[in-house]
Amino acid sequence: MIGSFTFENLPCRVVFGSGTLAHAKAEVERLGGKRALVLTTPQQEAQGKSLGTALGPLYAGLFSGATMHTPVDVTDRALAAMKACEADCVVSLGGGSTTGLGKALALRTGINQLCIPTTYAGSEMTPIVGQTENGLKTTVRDAAILPETVIYDVDLTLTLPASLAATSGINAIAHAVEALYARDTNPVTSLMAEEGIRALARALPAIAAKSDDREARTEALYGAWLCGVCLGTVGMALHHKLCHTLGGTFDLPHAETHTIVLPHALAYNAPAVPDAMARIARAIGAADASRGLYDLAKQLGAKLALRDVGMPESGIDKAADLAVTNAYWNPRPLERNAIRDLIARAFAGEPPV
Ligand code: NAD
Repeated sequence: MIGSFTFENLPCRVVFGSGTLAHAKAEVERLGGKRALVLTTPQQEAQGKSLGTALGPLYAGLFSGATMHTPVDVTDRALAAMKACEADCVVSLGGGSTTGLGKALALRTGINQLCIPTTYAGSEMTPIVGQTENGLKTTVRDAAILPETVIYDVDLTLTLPASLAATSGINAIAHAVEALYARDTNPVTSLMAEEGIRALARALPAIAAKSDDREARTEALYGAWLCGVCLGTVGMALHHKLCHTLGGTFDLPHAETHTIVLPHALAYNAPAVPDAMARIARAIGAADASRGLYDLAKQLGAKLALRDVGMPESGIDKAADLAVTNAYWNPRPLERNAIRDLIARAFAGEPPV
């Protein structure tokens, strides 16, 4: 039965396909841009340079210093580069870290962003940026942060190693999983969530088996887009809060942490969200949603234990305390001991219960 709901369609133009990078110049022009600063990580600098060539007279310069967690001092340097080359828009080419830098610049200056994602993180679909200063990560939500235009080009994702595709893909699935039981859940977002999970759960094993499977890479990117829309349109809960805490406190890798925690956070919420459990199970083709997600991660060869990505055992209690310190909405009330058990199982890499 469909009840009352609110759905806010976020204003973002999407160009999807193969070879769509060739539209970058026209899309910058469409935004009224005359001088574009290209943003990348150091690892993707060469890709940024060839994008610059494709932009021709619209290319103002390259800043290749994007890094994880959007440190404020990196944004300061990018802003100086933006001013020095008199850029009037940014083109972010890369994963969530690069997208984050473009968003931080937009937050400060209101500049337009063309975003070209090369992972499945989904940040390009959200009006949110998490920035770090003095070891503290703060999240800002502002309409100016949402990129105006996004180009998804499957060709750019072919270089994403299968192992990164696996964890980045499950990171995307996590957005859709929590969207299905969000406080402000709605039938439209849920439709995208289920389809996003289905697309990724089908594509990721195919990518693991054959890294250059274009059909699977296309389906995965399509799924990642849908999951990104979920993240941008409804609120998240326990899983995202836990990953934020674990990542920030112990400096754990973003996508791998999501991959490890997701089955356990979902198992914790399971008794409170039977409909979401049924939809997720249907989307991944498993008898049980949380066990199915654990098995998917295992099948993809992803790490299953937080201890294997750098979390100290002493962190289990600390993380449990932090998880219940700042109260937030979750479909099942936060119980410190049960959350500690959940983290302990994720730490050891045991299956969810
Ligand atoms: P990332 O952007 O840090 O990328 C990881 C590495 O992979 C980088 O070295 C990058 O250059 C490289 N890479 C990216 N695409 C590649 C490709 N196609 N081929 C080869 N190498 C490639 O990782 P991520 O997981 O995409 O992003 C994580 C960051 O994004 C975190 O800081 C997280 O907080 C943020 N994030 C924010 C939101 C939001 O809504 N604000 C949403 C999701 C993630």
